[in-house]
Amino acid sequence: MAAILSGIAASPGYALGPAFHYTPYQPAVCQSLVPPGQAEASVDHYDMSRRAAREELELLRLRLEKADPERSKILSAHQSILMDAVLDEEIREKILSDCYAADWAVWQSFGAYIRRVEGSSDLLLRERAADLRDVRDRLLRCMYGIPPQDLTLAEEPVVLVAHDLLPSDTAALDREKVLAIVTETGGPTCHSAIIARSLHIPAVLGMEGALELLPRGGSLLVDGVEGQVILDPSQEQREEYRRRQQLFMGKTRESARFLPLPAVTADGQGVQIGLNLATARQLPPEQAYVDGVGLFRTEFLYLERDDLPGEEEQLAAYTQVLRAFGSRTVTLRTMDIGGDKQLPCLDLPPEENPFLGSRALRLCFERPQLLKTQLRACLRAGVEGNLRLMFPMVTGLEDLRRAKGMLNQCRLELEREGLPCAGEIPVGIMVEVPSIAVMADLAAREADFASIGTNDLTQYVLAADRMNPAVRQYYRPFHPAVLRLIAHIARCFGEQGKPVCVCGEMGGDPLGAAVLVGLGIRHLSMNAASVAQVKRTLSLLDAGEARQAAEAACAMATGEEAELYLRKRFANLL
Ligand code: PEP
Ligand code: MG
Repeated sequence: MAAILSGIAASPGYALGPAFHYTPYQPAVCQSLVPPGQAEASVDHYDMSRRAAREELELLRLRLEKADPERSKILSAHQSILMDAVLDEEIREKILSDCYAADWAVWQSFGAYIRRVEGSSDLLLRERAADLRDVRDRLLRCMYGIPPQDLTLAEEPVVLVAHDLLPSDTAALDREKVLAIVTETGGPTCHSAIIARSLHIPAVLGMEGALELLPRGGSLLVDGVEGQVILDPSQEQREEYRRRQQLFMGKTRESARFLPLPAVTADGQGVQIGLNLATARQLPPEQAYVDGVGLFRTEFLYLERDDLPGEEEQLAAYTQVLRAFGSRTVTLRTMDIGGDKQLPCLDLPPEENPFLGSRALRLCFERPQLLKTQLRACLRAGVEGNLRLMFPMVTGLEDLRRAKGMLNQCRLELEREGLPCAGEIPVGIMVEVPSIAVMADLAAREADFASIGTNDLTQYVLAADRMNPAVRQYYRPFHPAVLRLIAHIARCFGEQGKPVCVCGEMGGDPLGAAVLVGLGIRHLSMNAASVAQVKRTLSLLDAGEARQAAEAACAMATGEEAELYLRKRFANLL
């Protein structure tokens, strides 16, 4: 029977093909010295290997140059690293003067650079460590005479299954040969996801145990929309896949022309479209066609590293985004660590129920220095653009008051230190815990704006873990209980003249967007890949009809009824 496995939907689209296991080369280098009298020969070997590595890169670069000049730049950058004169000098010296074996000299010299780059306060520079490692490993592989694992060697188009992909692997991806990507690590904002999206290759990332569960050559059906992979799909599943793929391709083509247009419903109701961001680096091209950033998930600065990002480093990242968006609003959310996002460097004690435990703001109150560093960086960056700040996992107004108190304290400190910082900035709350949703009338008096996190609100209202596929049938964003709460929040904030955005995945889903407009929401924030399609849906939507449909769904008895009704009612927009 077909097995269905879940991961993170990182690049939309569908694909069907055989699994191709890809394992990037990982060198194992031991400390060793050159035998007496062999130093010159070792340097020659190093030179020869360096030339071979350069040729490999040049071949890859030439192959890409015309088709994709942007990606070919990654390979030019790798050539520059490889040919760097200072690095080269250091390696030679280590071999000739310190009698290091050539591979050990390469490992040591690159290692020193990697550590330096990783310790940098500049985020962009820090992220270059992956490129340095990639070049180092290529050079070492050439030294050991191991041929490259060529992704283009596959005879037929394949689904690439890997633990992770290196920057040069993703740069070399061939759209003709790679039908889809499945990796064990990564998420929607990692390098692989960004490139996969730009190449329109469907990707499901973060699928634990993928290499073990998806055997070589096994037939895979990849669903990059839902983040699922079906192993050995049945005839029925294949047919369903073909139907979905055709629909998806037709819609993608048609939606693209809506991207540069303003988001307006058929009856003239304007809707603000924000972007959900999780990195300061590589802003997507869609950024030119949105009204700002509705959610900057800052916790990604903290993940996948062994230390905490300092104030200067955070300042650099936030400033970069604020500058890029100029006068448009950038809504920065303070760190949301805990739940499914753990930080190795914080050594957080295991919890029985992490989603109900010390997460986000709660964790920040336990460790105030964490939040203070972030708030200082935010306030300092705030002078560079149009900043709004919001707090995640607000349970009650005591949370908002306490967080605001800390914000004011940080502002006073910065002023005393004579550091430039933003004055009054709008301070809002994520509404994702049911208690604050119910209290929205009072929350609307104290918060400057609200942003509804439907991903969490749905899981908390329906008591259905958003990560657990076993309870997926309970996790229903269109459940009347969720819809009623959203309508209540929109009404309460509306009465105070304060904006409400929806930044959960529901806002980027065409059906979700239509229903939300019906519930009174006029600000939606979503991943870049959803912008064109949501604009298209809105252009076909009558806001008055949407209101009636949303009211009808709110009056229904079950989540299933409401969802079926809405899907049918809005079928022409999807
Ligand atoms: C949400 O909960 O809807 C949300 C936007 O936050 P996150 O998905 O980061 O928890
Ligand atoms: Mg959330």
